[in-house]
Amino acid sequence: MKKKLPIMRRCISCRETYDRNQLFRIIKHHNLGVLFNQGNGRSAYICKTEKCFRDPKIKKKLQKALKISINPNFYEIFEMEIQNYK
Ligand SMILES: [Zn+2]
Repeated sequence: MKKKLPIMRRCISCRETYDRNQLFRIIKHHNLGVLFNQGNGRSAYICKTEKCFRDPKIKKKLQKALKISINPNFYEIFEMEIQNYK
């Protein structure tokens, strides 16, 4: 049996690469806007390390990575998701 290679992605905060399971995925969907861990489109990744998802500059970094201005509603979702994660 062939071993599945992990898909490595880079965290936009610490710039380290991680297995995709270790990361939150934020997706820019062409008509739904910004989504959390779902959908297809340009993605940005944040590792599940408190210093990264609590990075005070994470909003700016996300906007830069996705090249859009992010709706404040999205951050409420993001906050909720990281609360669940803890
Ligand atoms: Zn990180």
